[in-house]
Amino acid sequence: MYPKLIIDLKKLENNLNAVAEITKDRGHCSLMIVTKGLCADKEMVKMVAENPNVDFIADSRVKNIASFADTARAAGKKTVLLRIPMHCEAAEVVKYVDLSFNSELSTIGLLNEEAEKAGIVHDIVLMIDLGDLREGIFFEREDLIRQAVSEILKMKNIRLYGIGVNLTCYGAIIPKYDNLSKLVEIGRKIEEEFGIELQMISGGNSSSIYLIDKGEMPEGINNLRLGEAFLLGNDTAYETKLPGTTGDGLILQAQIIELKEKPSLPIGEVGVDAFGQKPYYEDRGMMKRAIIGIGKQDTDLDSMTPRDSQIEIMGGSSDHIILDVTHCDREYKVGDIVEFELGYGGMLKTATSPYVEKEYRK
Ligand SMILES: *Cc1c(COP(=O)(O)O)cnc(C)c1O
Repeated sequence: MYPKLIIDLKKLENNLNAVAEITKDRGHCSLMIVTKGLCADKEMVKMVAENPNVDFIADSRVKNIASFADTARAAGKKTVLLRIPMHCEAAEVVKYVDLSFNSELSTIGLLNEEAEKAGIVHDIVLMIDLGDLREGIFFEREDLIRQAVSEILKMKNIRLYGIGVNLTCYGAIIPKYDNLSKLVEIGRKIEEEFGIELQMISGGNSSSIYLIDKGEMPEGINNLRLGEAFLLGNDTAYETKLPGTTGDGLILQAQIIELKEKPSLPIGEVGVDAFGQKPYYEDRGMMKRAIIGIGKQDTDLDSMTPRDSQIEIMGGSSDHIILDVTHCDREYKVGDIVEFELGYGGMLKTATSPYVEKEYRK
């Protein structure tokens, strides 16, 4: 059945080993593999759990972690929750997550209560915001960082495992030697002032890995969290391909449901499209238009690239995507399959859509 997402586990494993070589061998960091981009696909997680290079398996959703906690733990990998928890999920976090990222004392307090009930100690990473302006205590407020650490250390069922930063997500701020060394400095200050040892100084996501080969990763950063670098082979700071990786470990296939010659300009008064947007059309005269059976409900039109470079994506609606196949050497017909490589947004949506089948290559 189509649409179908082909998940090539061999290629993903090859990507994993390539990023591990950079992160661990050359960067001396532990490796946290992030599964959310592929909606914590079970087969992918199994491969990740079995790979000896992987130290932690992380996701942003407790539901995803609940689905793989047994697999990960059985393979000796810690589960990590990346999105700071909601109050309402504290009990679930303590149950399925070995290490959670946090920035709010009220939430950490709830985790402490739940951990006490469960008779365990829950590890946390305290998030510091270095200017990307998503989660974390703002780095200039050392008073607030000190106060948070002091409160956390009073909680009997919480252990401060480390500190971390997230960049290039909201503010699109690129990790550099300068901002990441601030994180290391904050870590050292906490250790000195409170006489504790932090196990982890987590230096970011797939946008931080490029620093290793440039020799600009500050000493002291000892963990990276990699999703897109592993799944698509991307360095997300400067949008380059990481050495030894491929971007075709995931391929989206869709079937042509209509193929007709029609004009390129719609006829009649132009209103708004299915999503309330005013469309723009270019007059290309008569053209060969193919419709495929997949839409905005299942993928992101701006985050998919036809493998046949002569195809152009014209647009789409919830359930249809229209392709310009006028200039294709291949003579497409109804029933044919069109293939796409995916970007992050396209991958995320196809992996999440229940309408997209999955097929594995090993
Ligand atoms: C999503 C996420 C990651 C992984 O990001 P990639 O760009 O896919 O590597 C790492 N850390 C946090 C906090 C995240 O939310």
